[in-house]
Amino acid sequence: MRIVVKVGTSTLAYATGCLNIRHAELLVKTLSDLKNAGHEIILVSSGAIGMGVGRLSLKEKPQDMPTKQAAASVGQCELMYTYDRLFGEYNHTVGQILLTGADFSHADRKQNFENTLERLLELGVIPVVNENDTIATDEISVGDNDTLAAMAACSAKADLLVLLSDIDGLYTKDPHKNQDAQLIPLVTEITPEIMQLADGEGSGLGTGGMITKISAARIAMDFGMDMVIANGARPRGLYDIVEGKSVGTRFRKG
Ligand code: GLU
Repeated sequence: MRIVVKVGTSTLAYATGCLNIRHAELLVKTLSDLKNAGHEIILVSSGAIGMGVGRLSLKEKPQDMPTKQAAASVGQCELMYTYDRLFGEYNHTVGQILLTGADFSHADRKQNFENTLERLLELGVIPVVNENDTIATDEISVGDNDTLAAMAACSAKADLLVLLSDIDGLYTKDPHKNQDAQLIPLVTEITPEIMQLADGEGSGLGTGGMITKISAARIAMDFGMDMVIANGARPRGLYDIVEGKSVGTRFRKG
C-alpha cells in the first residue's frame, strides 16, 4: 500500500515549541516498521513554525509574516534533523519536499513534484513534505497541511491518507464540552450535516481544526481514496488503520 500520513504540530511539539519526543519516536518507529513490512510511506509534517518558535525562544507564535517565515526557516531544519536522525536509527532515508499552492496550479511544476516523489519512492526514501512556509504568503499558499496532504496524496496516487491529530476523530458533538459526544467511525458522504459538525461543535484543537480535515476528506473521496482521522498520540493505531480496522473516523465513498 502507498500511504500518506500527515502529522500535526500539536502531535509533534509541546505548547512550548519543543519536540514531543515520545510522540515523534513512536511515530517514526511505527512508520519505519510499516515500511519494513513493504508499504510505501509519504510523511506530510507540520511543525516548522511551532518548532522554530521553540528554537528561537519566542514567547508565542508570531503574527507578522517575516517572523513567521523566519521561524519556519529555523523550525524546518529542526524538523528534518529530527526525522533524519530518528528514521536513520531504523536505517531509513528521508528526503525533503517543500511546496506551495502555486506548485499544484502550474502543470509543469506539479509534474516535476510527481516525478520526484515517484523516484524517491523507487529509491526507497521516505519523502517528508511540508508547505514552503518561508516563501508562501496567503496568495500562493495551500494554507493548511490537511489540504496539502490530500493534494499530495492524489499526486502520489496513494491508497490511503491518514491525518494524525490531537483528537480521536470526528464526533457528534465537541467531546471537550459534551460527555455524551460519540465518535463517528465511518463517513460515506460529506453531507451538509457532516459539514456542520466540522463547522462548529466537533472541531479539535489542532492548527487546521476539523474544517480543513473534512475538506481534505472531500478531496480524497473524490479521488476514490480512503481517509482516516486518528489520534497522533497513539501512532501504533496506524497498524490497525492499514489493515482496515476501525480506528478514529474513516471516510470512504459509499
Ligand atoms: N506548514 C505549517 C508548519 O509546518 C503548518 C500548517 C498546518 O499545520 O496546517 O508549521
